[in-house]
Amino acid sequence: MSMVITIKQALSQAQRLQGVSEGWRLESEILLAHVLNCERETLFAWPAQELSRQQADAYQNMMQRRERGEPIAYITGKKAFWDFELKVNPQVLIPRPETELLVETAINLLQPKCSAALRLADLGTGSGAIALALARHRKHWRITAVDISPQALALAAENAQLLQVENIEFCESSWCDGLDARAYDLVAANPPYVAVGDRHLQQGDLRFEPSIALAAEASGLSHLQEIVKKCRKILKKEAWLLLEHGFDQKQAVSNLLRDAGYSNISCAVDLAGVDRLTCAQSPG
Ligand code: GLN
Repeated sequence: MSMVITIKQALSQAQRLQGVSEGWRLESEILLAHVLNCERETLFAWPAQELSRQQADAYQNMMQRRERGEPIAYITGKKAFWDFELKVNPQVLIPRPETELLVETAINLLQPKCSAALRLADLGTGSGAIALALARHRKHWRITAVDISPQALALAAENAQLLQVENIEFCESSWCDGLDARAYDLVAANPPYVAVGDRHLQQGDLRFEPSIALAAEASGLSHLQEIVKKCRKILKKEAWLLLEHGFDQKQAVSNLLRDAGYSNISCAVDLAGVDRLTCAQSPG
């Protein structure tokens, strides 16, 4: 039987997470705020507030899961991305802040013709992060969100419903197979690009994420290669392809694009200063 504890006492257990995360203090606050269904700030306004037995048990359970390394986003079932929150589960990659660079870049590239009824695709949508950010930005854009995993698509569709986004169609497919030819003004993808066998796959959050969303053959380039090649069919002439990739894949991705006839190839760095995103225009 658990004892009655206060918010302050619950937060004093934060050190239990020291072994899993540098952000242990913040993480215990996130978990407690989640259990109490309140903002983090509220925890500091009411330190003497007692947790109900049920809340205390739920908090203990979540702290234990985190101690074992499970990602915070899977424990709380949610993750903030761009200007909204997504439901997430272990069937999908947890959206990363660096992927917001892809959204920002897509919006900037399309700015000159943003009032047109553009068609965009997000290949390997996972939780729907990129597709939803773009769909919310312009209601008259039509987005195709693709994933090979029916579980991922179901979650992405649920997220669209929760966010009341209606300008996305969902498509179960391998990359762009079956999508309309010469139809898209922009295609974005954050495919798996970590090399199979890379030691990072055995560290931190990545251990709990689906390897289908993370790992790729050919030094992590196999899916990027396939996408570059296949997307020529679905992109309109001079339409944009945006690819997220690994910190050391800039040159390889640029070569793939050049060899496939794309032009205006450029790479953008993320907030950590890492080469993260390469954009290019389709030969048509
Ligand atoms: N950026 C992720 C990571 O290295 C990988 C995501 C991906 O493979 N698309 O943690």
